[in-house]
Amino acid sequence: MTQPLLAKVLIANRGEIALRILRACKELGIKTVAVHSKIDADLKHVKLADESICIGPNPSTQSYLNVPSLIAAMEVSGAQGVHPGYGFLAENADFAEQVENSGFVFIGPKAETIRIMGDKVAAIRAMKAAGVPTVPGSDGPLSEDPAELKATALRIGYPVIIKAAAGGGGRGMRVVESEAALINAVTVTKTEAAAAFNDGTVYMEKFLTNPRHVEVQVLADGQGGAIHLGDRDCSLQRRHQKVLEEAPAPGIPEAARQAVFEACVNACKQINYRGAGTFEFLYEDGHYYFIEMNTRVQVEHPVSEMITGVDIVKEQLKIASGQPLSLRQEDIVFRGHAFECRLNAEDPDSFLPQPGLIKGYHAPGGLGVRVDSHIYAGYRVPPNYDSLIGKLITHGDDRATALVRMRNALDETVIDGIKTNIPLHKKLVVDRAFQEGGVNIHYLEKKLGDL
Ligand code: ADP
Repeated sequence: MTQPLLAKVLIANRGEIALRILRACKELGIKTVAVHSKIDADLKHVKLADESICIGPNPSTQSYLNVPSLIAAMEVSGAQGVHPGYGFLAENADFAEQVENSGFVFIGPKAETIRIMGDKVAAIRAMKAAGVPTVPGSDGPLSEDPAELKATALRIGYPVIIKAAAGGGGRGMRVVESEAALINAVTVTKTEAAAAFNDGTVYMEKFLTNPRHVEVQVLADGQGGAIHLGDRDCSLQRRHQKVLEEAPAPGIPEAARQAVFEACVNACKQINYRGAGTFEFLYEDGHYYFIEMNTRVQVEHPVSEMITGVDIVKEQLKIASGQPLSLRQEDIVFRGHAFECRLNAEDPDSFLPQPGLIKGYHAPGGLGVRVDSHIYAGYRVPPNYDSLIGKLITHGDDRATALVRMRNALDETVIDGIKTNIPLHKKLVVDRAFQEGGVNIHYLEKKLGDL
């Protein structure tokens, strides 16, 4: 007999992902509880949820990151589970633990898995042991001994990168070109990491000069079932922030792709992974190098949904309810190609956030066009949170069709009242190198420099 689904879920997030989760809950007949800060009472999902609770003032630390308030909201509303979305508390092992200790279901991996993956040294070790290809590196924390550090760097070969084990969001990293700069770089990175992440552990990796960012989406039930939903290329980044993503990753030999998919699925089985997850790799010269695992649903998950037809959030909800995966790998049929443009309320030239009132809004449409967004005419983008106001996703039978649909969709979109990064996306989709596919992680910043 299959486990019944959770009857009521609290959505511990805001914006487009909160609406995305609400839609999945509604499709499954799960009741929803929205929580919001004072300024967010007019969010789309708050209006559509079965119940809503104001959990605090606008600063995230007092609302979306306020664990006692969230747990109290679960108690008051009778929600059985909490979906954290991405960001905020999604990869916070202590939160997951407190939720479970309070008798509720955390919709995500076990706290111990989140904890391992949050420590990059531990994550790399676990993945290496599970047969996932990693970056040549120190295989553990660096010592303080200068002679040992120099020997490690020499073995790996310059340039190397010093990274904080607890780092995140592209912070806590330093590239070292030669031995002269090594010892100082390690000392400074350690000090910065201790200050920023409360953990001065650092490790060393070979610095890959022109890699692409390629990641693999997985689903696992923690009961022995694990599948992959193919790969995504997220190489178009600015300051380590993804801007435009696609699935599948173009131009990679099929044998290499299949081998890495298999390694990821096997790793999920070995660590008894539960939930949706992403293995992030750098890809260079035909080789994959694991850099980290994200233990949550990601912003760019829709491109994988578009090419597989699998609703990743619904699968998360079913897995969290205790159901074994109903999908087998052979059930997953890959069809066509998809792109996603992240729409940000920001100045397209200065990249400064542009909060404010959206006076007019017209969403694009047509076959193969999907808009995941919480905005509407009359909605005011608050200055308190990140600037993502939605995602434009297109799908087509092939890459060229999906791309032309994106071009049309961007042209059709009207957002009046605030500046957005749509002008930047319009330039990217007609860029020759991007159209050919397979640009590396430095391409966007280089192009921005040229513009
Ligand atoms: P974070 O958790 O902060 O996102 P990651 O380990 O995922 O840190 O690395 C973020 C980005 O830093 C990568 O997408 C890549 O651009 C760059 N980077 C990290 N490690 C390396 C490496 N070994 N060689 C080259 N670039 C790297």
